[in-house]
This record gives sequence, C-alpha cells and structure tokens, in this order.
Amino acid sequence: MKKSILLLFVFCALVTNTFAQQKENVSSVDSAFGVFSKQFIDELWTLYPLWATSVGYHQYDSLLPAPDAKYRIKELRFIARYDTLLHKFKADELSPYSRMDFRLMENFIGSTRFQINKFKSYEWDPSGYNLGGNFFDVVDYKKASLNDRLRTLAVKFAKVPAYYVAAKANINKPTREHTELAIQQFKGTLLFLEKDLQDSIKLSSLSVAEIAVLNQHAGLAKKSINEFVNWLSALLPAMNEGNSRSFRIGKTLYEQKYKYDLCAGYSLQDMYNKALERKSFVHAEMSKLADRMWPVYFGSQTVPADSLQKIKLLIDTLSTHHCKREDFLSVIEKQLPELVTFVNQNHLLGLDPTKPLEVRKTPDYMAGVAGASLSSPGPYDRGGVTYYNVTPLTNYSATEAESYLREYNDYVLQILNIHEAIPGHYVQGIYANRSSSIIKSVLGNGATIEGWACYVERMMLEQGYKDSPEMLLFYYKWNLREVCNFILDYNVHCNNWQYESAQRLLQTEAFQQETEVKEKYKRATLSQVQLASYFTGLTEIYEFREEAKLRFGDKFKLNKFHERFLSFGSAPVKEIKAVLMKQGQNKE
Ligand code: ZN
Ligand code: ZN
Repeated sequence: MKKSILLLFVFCALVTNTFAQQKENVSSVDSAFGVFSKQFIDELWTLYPLWATSVGYHQYDSLLPAPDAKYRIKELRFIARYDTLLHKFKADELSPYSRMDFRLMENFIGSTRFQINKFKSYEWDPSGYNLGGNFFDVVDYKKASLNDRLRTLAVKFAKVPAYYVAAKANINKPTREHTELAIQQFKGTLLFLEKDLQDSIKLSSLSVAEIAVLNQHAGLAKKSINEFVNWLSALLPAMNEGNSRSFRIGKTLYEQKYKYDLCAGYSLQDMYNKALERKSFVHAEMSKLADRMWPVYFGSQTVPADSLQKIKLLIDTLSTHHCKREDFLSVIEKQLPELVTFVNQNHLLGLDPTKPLEVRKTPDYMAGVAGASLSSPGPYDRGGVTYYNVTPLTNYSATEAESYLREYNDYVLQILNIHEAIPGHYVQGIYANRSSSIIKSVLGNGATIEGWACYVERMMLEQGYKDSPEMLLFYYKWNLREVCNFILDYNVHCNNWQYESAQRLLQTEAFQQETEVKEKYKRATLSQVQLASYFTGLTEIYEFREEAKLRFGDKFKLNKFHERFLSFGSAPVKEIKAVLMKQGQNKE
C-alpha cells in the first residue's frame, strides 16, 4: 500500500506541468477508441452470429448466414474496412490498457485474412459445419422464455438447408480424419433434433400451430444434415485408398498459425528448442527424485540402469495411491477449500469469495469430452456461476475406472484442481470478467489462459503446497505432458511423425498409458497449434515473472504480480509484459 502511494507521488511530480492537458488528451483518444471498439464488436456479432451466441450474446440467435463465397467476400471487406479504421488510431497514443485491445484487433484482422486466404479449413474440415452446439446454446439461454427460444430455433432451422448447400460447395478434398469426426459429431446433432428438441417442446406452452411450424422446420434441418452426412460418408471409401488431403498442415502454415493463435514473444523454433531443453531438465530432476525415494518403496531391490525405467517403476507404484471410484467427485469438492486456505495464508493473490464455483457432474451434452473441465461465465454474464464439470466414473468398467484413477491419483488430482480451479482457470476467469474489456474476452489468447493454469501448478508447489518428493515427481510427470503436447503437435504437423513416434515420446519419455497416447495422437490429427498453447504460455509467464523479480528486486511482490497480470484479462503475455515492465508491477 505504502509503495503504491510513493509511486503515485513520483508519477505526479514528473508530469505535474502538463498533467491536466495530457490527461484530457489521453482520455479523449481512449474514449474515441472505446466507441470504436464497441462499434467493431456490434458489427462483429452481426457478421458472426454463431460466435456471438457462444459467448453469451443472444441478440442474433435466429441468424444463420450461409457460409458461401459471397459471405467470405463480406468478411474480407469487413476486415479491410476495420483495418483502415483501426490504423487511424496510433497505438502509442493509447493508454496501455486500450493499446492491448488495439493489438488484439490487429491480430484478429491478420488472422482472419490468413484463415480465409491461406488456411482454408472451410475446404477440408467438414466438422466445422456442425450446428449442434449452437442449437444447444440457443435452447439453453435461460434469460429468454422457453417459448421464445423455440420460436428462435424455428426461424433458424428454416435456414439450415441453404447453410448446407454452401457447406457442400466449399468442401474440396477434406481430410479423412475431419470427415470421420464430422460424421460422428453430426449424429449428436441429429439426436438433439429428434430427442432433446421434442422434450423441450413438451415443456413449452407453444400453440399447436407454432409446434407444427417448428417441427416442419426441424424436419427440413434434419433432412439437410442427413444428406450432408450421407454425402460425406460416400467420400470415405475413396479416401481410405490414400487420395485424401493430409491432416498435417506442414511447417509454413503451422508457423503462421502459431503466430496468430498464440502471439508468443518467441519464434516457433525458439520455443520448440525450449521444450526439448525442458524435457531433458525434467528427466534429470525426476531421476534424482527417484533415487531419493527408491529405498522407501523398493528397499534393497536393484535400481534399474535405465533412468526412464527407474522413474516409471516408481510412478507405477505411487499411482496405486488413489481414491475410491465412488468418492471421485466428493474428494475433488473437499480439496477446493484447502486450496483457498493455502492461497490466502500465503498471500498468493486476492480471491473473490462472492463468486461461486460449483462442482457438478458433467452435463450429458458435454460427456465424453474430458474427465474434468471448467465452464466459466462469458463476458456477457459476468456475475454468473462457474461450473467445475467432473465426469463420475459410473459408466466405466472396473478396469477402466482403475486405469483412470491411477492416472488421477492422490497427487495428480491435486494438481488438476490447481489447474482447473484454484488458483487456475476459475480464478483467471473471475479476474478477466471483473476487469477486462469485451475485446480482451472474445479475442482472448489461448496461451495466456492455458499458460496461467500451468504456471500456477508450478507456483503452488514452489510455495510449498503439499510439499513432498512424491508430489514433485507427479508435478514433473504432469509438466512433461504440457511439454510433450507441444513436441508432439509440432512434429506431427511439421515433421510427418507417425503414431509410433508419438508412442515413443508419450509412453517412454512422458510415462503415459496407451489409451492416453491414442487419444492425444488423435487430438493432434484434428487440431493444430492448440496443443502448443500450454507450454508456450507457461514458459512466457514463468520467464516474465523471473525477469520482473530481477528488475524490481525488493519491491517485487508475488501477489501484486499475479493480480496485475490477471487484470489484463486474456491479453497476450508479451503485451502484458511490455506494459508491466514499464510501469512497475506495484503501481495501482
Ligand atoms: Zn487401485
Ligand atoms: Zn486448462
């Protein structure tokens, strides 16, 4: 507190002569930029109504533009116009906070051009045309009456046939992997139309005539989705003969997508080299830990000469320390208050006790996605509840449940809770919603979001949370997953890695089970760059903190650093760093 006041005095003394005038100038440029940003967002939602719905903006729920060539021209015109308008502002005349929005918009403009002109996933990824999630988001919007939501869907369903005419015209040599994914996911959408929709109709008080129209339009939607699926299915046999497009995007596209998606302060190559270095470092640390723990768990048994083998034996033994399958949800629930206490007692950052976090069983429509995930309220529902979705193990066979529980053993489960909840994604989401602009929310950076959750795992252990060699060993195993996600993604897309290479990396060097390896490899075939976000974000945040410590010396306060960092929402780490290193992390 004292320090902030002191800094403020220095600041005032420096600018005292021109203070009034400067303040006026800055704020008028900033407020003009604020008006401009709002206009941008308003237009963005009319152009991208499905995206709007997904972030909780429901004004355009009934719109469904056909994604044809004309629409892409419209997108490019929108981008060109805003490119000109944006650059009427000069970035360095804006306040640091607005400047970040400027940079995010600039990146969005470049990224959209890249997507349309170069990346062109609308040609090769048919799963991009699945409307199921959007239908669900519309019907799930609790602030509108159920009758109104269903009326909205009736309007939207009528536009589905034109949507798939355009989709079909776009598809040009799709990849086998994305075609199979699309066929699988469209089944869920058809199920929504057949079952969930009918359940909602029963709960509504729509008139008989309205229900007839809704069902008629839903029928049209179903018919065109079915036709699209059949058309895709007919493409498959020829693809299996090897004349489909490769899912590997190649180094040139990967490099560009990495730049646009993650906005890292490092080149792809430099970050990749860091990942390789980190892997060696972690292996060496794990080996030392294993030597220390060996006598405790294996007594006088001979230590294997191969250090990876030695580490694996220890991991396998310790993984049997896990909760009972029926207690999985309640154990997670019980750990959260412990995390809150630790964060508070160690002054790691301020938590907001008024913002609820609810642990719940993963809803059916999300099932099969992940063992645990977080649903944060969007930028248009800032006071909303955050849900920590946990899939209970009831549908697993005894063997599957055992394998899963070994993976999420007593140690890893705590790291998972740090990552997803406290002080990971849940806390980041609360800070972002409290203070950041709509631009920072909707154009937010994946490396900042995942990087924060990975950073706090490491930070909590450094601060002594559940300090033990066992816990540290499993932190390193978890950290290897983040590191190897990147190494895998890069090599699959840029160096033609086949499954066997993935297996060698993930099973031998990262101690993963075969089911995990299979799932991860599949994910690498379906997404590009996302798997690189964890290590990239973690590395940038961690290095930034270490630099800030050196730079600010005695004045460095960990909680202030965390709070200031989070106050910029999901802006790219390098932009936050540019501002904070200049201002000083203690300045309020
Ligand atoms: Zn067991
Ligand atoms: Zn995460």
